[in-house]
Parts: sequence; C-alpha cells; structure tokens
Amino acid sequence: MASIDDALDRVIDSKTAALLAREFELHTVGDLLRHYPRRYADQGQLTPIADLAEGDDVTVVAEIRSCSSRRMQYKQGTIQAVVIFDGTRTLNLTFFNQHRLLPKIFTPGRKALFAGRVTTYGKKRTLQLTHPRYQLLDGDADKLAEFARLLIPVYPATKDLPSWTIQLCVRQVCDLLDDPEDPLPAQLRAQHRLPELGAALRAVHRSDNRAEIVAAQRRLKWDEAMAVQLTLARRRQEVARRPAPACPRRPGALAAAFDAALPFTLTAGQREVGEVLAVELAGEHPMNRLLQGEVGSGKTVVALRAMLQVVDAGRQAVLLAPTEVLAAQHARSLREMLGDHGRAGELGSAEHATRIALLTGSLPARARKQALLDVASGAAGIVVGTHAVIQERVSFADLGLVVIDEQHRFGVEQRDALRARAADGTSPHVLVMTATPIPRTVAMTVYGDLEVSALRELPQGRSQIATTVVPVGEKPSWLDRVWQRITEEVAAGRQAYVVCPRIGEQDATGEDTEDSADGEVGEEGGRPPLAVLELAPQLQDGPLASLRLGILHGRLPGDDKDAVMRRFAAGEIDALVATTVVEVGVDVPNATVMVIMDAQRFGVSQLHQLRGRVGRGSHPGLCLLVTDSPPGSTARERLDAVAATADGFQLARLDLELRREGDVLGATQSGRRSGLRLLSLLRDEELIMAARQAAAQLIQADPGLTAHPELARLAADHLDEQRAQFLDKV
Ligand code: ADP
Ligand code: MG
Repeated sequence: MASIDDALDRVIDSKTAALLAREFELHTVGDLLRHYPRRYADQGQLTPIADLAEGDDVTVVAEIRSCSSRRMQYKQGTIQAVVIFDGTRTLNLTFFNQHRLLPKIFTPGRKALFAGRVTTYGKKRTLQLTHPRYQLLDGDADKLAEFARLLIPVYPATKDLPSWTIQLCVRQVCDLLDDPEDPLPAQLRAQHRLPELGAALRAVHRSDNRAEIVAAQRRLKWDEAMAVQLTLARRRQEVARRPAPACPRRPGALAAAFDAALPFTLTAGQREVGEVLAVELAGEHPMNRLLQGEVGSGKTVVALRAMLQVVDAGRQAVLLAPTEVLAAQHARSLREMLGDHGRAGELGSAEHATRIALLTGSLPARARKQALLDVASGAAGIVVGTHAVIQERVSFADLGLVVIDEQHRFGVEQRDALRARAADGTSPHVLVMTATPIPRTVAMTVYGDLEVSALRELPQGRSQIATTVVPVGEKPSWLDRVWQRITEEVAAGRQAYVVCPRIGEQDATGEDTEDSADGEVGEEGGRPPLAVLELAPQLQDGPLASLRLGILHGRLPGDDKDAVMRRFAAGEIDALVATTVVEVGVDVPNATVMVIMDAQRFGVSQLHQLRGRVGRGSHPGLCLLVTDSPPGSTARERLDAVAATADGFQLARLDLELRREGDVLGATQSGRRSGLRLLSLLRDEELIMAARQAAAQLIQADPGLTAHPELARLAADHLDEQRAQFLDKV
C-alpha cells in the first residue's frame, strides 16, 4: 500500500519517477495526485483518422496494418513506413532508423495509441505522422481497458512525458493508495457537501462521470482556498496581537490646524473613514487597513490627517509613493497645507510644528544626509519617500504609521518587512491606499492581511471625463484634430498631458520604458512605440509650436522632474509630454486633456489611471486614446471598453480576464508553485468567500490549529511555497 507522503520511486518504476521529478517537480505520491488533468476527453474524442488535419496535435487509437523498412535514397539510414487503420481509414506513419525494433513490435493486428503532429508529404499532401510517440495496447488487456475508459484524463504533459504515461502512473498509485487523512473537518465537509479527500482525488483522476469530477474539483479547490485563507487569517491574528505605538488624538494641535486650513469640506466618506482611522491609531494594537477609492476620490487627504494624528502623539509617520514625482508632489502639498506648522526649527514656525523630510533616490548626498539625520533624530515627524526608501536602512526615531500610496504590487511580505521597522517589539500602524479597484477575491488574497475601507463618492464639483478612441489607422486626419483640441483648451486657460509608452533616444531595449508601466509596452508589429523624446520636438516644431511644452520621464534627474512638475502645477507649462510617470497620483486640477499615444500599448487599468489625471477640477476632462490598431482587433476592443465605461471596477475585472491572473498578482500569489492549481480568483469568488469565513472561525477558536493537524500542515505547505517564492525574488 502507499501513502500520500511516499516517494514516487517506491510506488512506480524509478525511470518514470525520475522523469516526473525532472519535468514537473513531482516527488511524492501526493505531488502526483495533485497533478490534475487539464481536461477529460471522451473516448470517442480520440481523433478518428478521418478527421485529422495538417498541423493538429493528435492522439489516435489504431491497429497496425503493415510495417516496412527501406534504405534512404540520398542519405545514410533507413525509413520505416507503417500503415495503421482505425476501423474506417488508414494513416501512414514514418519513422527513421528503427529497422531493428519496429518490424518486430509493429506486427499486423496489434493495437496502439499514437500521438504526434500531423504533417503532409508529396503533391497530394497526403497526411502522415512522423516519429509519433506510441503506446502498445494489446497483449496487456489491462492497458487496453485503461485507454478504453469513457473519459480519458488529459494531463499537462511534455515531449518526454506524454499524458498516457502519467495516466498509467496515476492509476498505479490510485490502486495502491491508502485513503489519506482528510484535512477538512467533517463538519465543514458536511456543511458544504464536499466529498472526502481520498474519494475526490480518485474521482478527479479516474471518474467516468463528469458531475462526479466537478464535485471532486470543487472539493480540491477548497483545500487550496483554505490553505491561503488560513495563512491569511493567522497572519491577521498575529499582527493584531502585537503591541502598537498608541497615537491618541490631541485636540488643538497639528491635525486640527491642518483641518482648519483645508480649502474644502471633507466628503462624508472621508470623514467616516477618517474616524475609523483615528480610533484605530489610538489603539494598542496595529491598524492594518486598505483604503480603496476611485482615482480622485481624495484618499491622500485622509492619509495626511492620519499622519498628523501620529505626529501629534509624538511619533513619526512615513508616506511611501511609487515614484519620485509623486513623492515630491506629496511633500510639496503637505508643506503648503501645513504652512508654519511644517517648519519646525525655522524662524517664526508655529507651536506643535514638525518637519517634513523628503527622501528619494536622486537626492544629492548632503540633502540626503540631512534628511536621514532628521528622520533618525525624530526632528522630522513626517517622512515622504519612494518605496525604495525601505530598501535602504533608514532608521526612524519612533515610527508610528506607514502609509503606502498607490502601490498594488506591494505584497504581504513587503509590508511585513516594513512592520519590522518599528521600535522595540512594536508594530507600526499600516495604511495602504489604492485606486486600482481590485476584484474582491484578488484583494482578499493580495491584501488578505488587511481590513478594507472604501471611499465611494467623488468630492463635489468633480467633472465627467469623456473618453474617445482616435483611430489614426483609418482616420489619419483625426490626429490634427487632437492637437487642435489641445490648443483650444490651452487658449481657454487649461493644460494638457500627452503620454507616450516610451522615453526614446536609446533604442527600445526595454530599459527605455518606465518601471511603473505595467501595460504591454514593447515591440509589436515591428514599429517601436512612440517616444517622448521623439514626439516632443515634432510637436514643438509643428502643431503645438505656439505652446509651452514640458518633458517628463523617469530618466530625468530627480531635481529636474520636480522642477518640471512644479512649473506644470504653476501653469508655466501648457502641455506636458510624458511617460507613465504621471500615471498615479499626479494632481494638477487645471489639466483637462489627456492624450494617450499608442494607447493599445497600455493595460486597461493603466489607461483608467492615466485618464484620472484630468477632470480633477471644475472643468470637464477629455481623454483621447490614439491608436492605429485596426477595428475589430482585441486591442481595439479593449480601448473601446475603456471609452465606454467610467467604472474602474468593471475595467479591473476586464483587465484580469484579459491578462493572466498571475500577471496581476505577481509571481508570489499565482501559479502552480503557490498552490493554486484549480482555484480561480475570478470564477470561484463564492467558494473563496466561504473559505475565508471558515478559516477565520477556525483560527479564532484554535489559533495553532492543534485540533486539526492536517489542516495546519496544509497551511504550512502553502506558506513554505510562498516563502520560497519570496526568497527567490530578493
Ligand atoms: P486620490 O484618491 O486619487 O489620491 P487625491 O487625494 O489626490 O485623490 O484628491 C484629488 C483632488 O481632490 C486633490 O486635488 C484634493 O485636494 C481634492 N480633494 C480631496 N478631497 C476633497 C474634497 N472633500 N472636496 C474637494 N476637493 C477635494
Ligand atoms: Mg492619490
């Protein structure tokens, strides 16, 4: 008998076991049983010879009619011509240099499976298989029966390891298998009507009944969902138990001064979320919260108010932005809004004042040293920096709150690394903000350690953004109209962005694009994507000659970037030709037009983010998606979808459908190695929700899962795989 932990080479022949290990990293019986069929073929679906077409990868069952061998005419070696017959038609097979073996085993009347790619030869384009893999069926009634099953599992396979070999191994394993202990508690199984693990494993590989297979798959998805959710529930509990730097509100101090200086009234949502944060910051255990809100919903203000409460309590808050441009913008607006309250130590500064340190990679050495000193001494209550800040060993005097802005790629592990930065044994409060409206199930996986708040309304007076696709392939003259539109807006006192997928000058090496670009920037159809450094001079010498143009991209030195942004914000630049550095967070309410060149090169969510840069003031926004993708192409359909809806949620879902889930989640959370084999974050929302609830209950009642060792093991295995992935990356 065999158990799930047995090494495969104890159960099946060692040569095949070695192949399974090499090709798929399958080492134990359990590994093999979790190598699920990709699909199931009806026995009749084994392709009849009559249906073969050139180029198909096929498997046929047939009887051998003849096998002859001859010398090749112009070369060394021999050719074996084999004719097979499936009851209706014959097919020719060609092998080379097998004259010793084949005539012996391919005797007329024997049956076999043949798999390979259909090719043709001769003027008549006669179909054939060249060097197909084969599996003899006769002489072994058992094997014949195996492949005569009603449903034949089709496994992920490789050239050296065909599906039928895996099928035979699985069968051997299943015959010997002792039913494994079931990790899911009986009560949970009963509640959700899930078959037992042993039965489910057998069914998923060996059932002839599709309904039974679906039930088995659902059960096996539960294992995957529970592993993830238990890990997350445990992490939530662990973090929630740590002591945190308590930051109670202090009336009449910085936070109050900031509120008094606000040029607008907070929306109801901002006030509500603000209240939740204020209470949690005052608590003894760390806040761990995700703030979701559409582009322009006013998340930053919410975060700033939270940071000031922390500073008022005598501690420090750090705000991490994904780009230097954004970090500089945050620091600038903070300083503006705080006025005298943000200039501690300077002449005429106000009571309770603090200092704001800006820490970015491109800071000159002296300024950087000063900033680091201010952070370490505690003189700076507020630290604004790029995510890179945490990579360096910045030491804080007393870190109370970490705010992570606009970064949906910032994973669980990275947040953990930050949490470790607080003073002795405490864990800082964490607030993550994102405008990427992530589908709920994805949020629960990537952000599963966080509670979620949302800003659902946009501030009053926010205008609509009209989006139009400009198909320059069919209507080249429309491009002139685009530049005319910009000129009109500028004449009316407004400003514009022109975004290109590439920086330029260097050839399209890939380095040439912005890091933050997560679209499909790259070579496509031979033409390199439009570049900022190429387009800007063309515009300046041509259609936009009368305007003041500025250039912004990631390769500019930090100071220059900041200067350009300043001048744009001050209205000294009419139109900014930029890369996706303006994608997130950039806030210039007077900008009303966003032109996106080669729009098909960007992802759906990215386009939505980009257009969120306009329509932020009282004037309506206009977004023009310029593309030469032909009508009816997938690229064009995506752009039409973006133009058709302003609903970020719907677009995020579309994005997820269009890309592979793995791309959205990053390597850590997706794919075979992370343990998600059957579970789909998109299609199994209900199941994941139920598992989340079940996991939370189990962990609450029994944090160590001592009553459920098998379940604990399931979660631990999952965590190991995740850790391994994480370590791979750093
Ligand atoms: P996001 O959620 O995209 O980060 P921001 O915080 O950048 O949004 O806010 C967008 C703009 O709206 C900013 O100019 C900000 O000052 C302004 N804003 C924020 N809250 C309000 C409000 N309650 N009323 C009016 N304007 C607001
Ligand atoms: Mg923002």
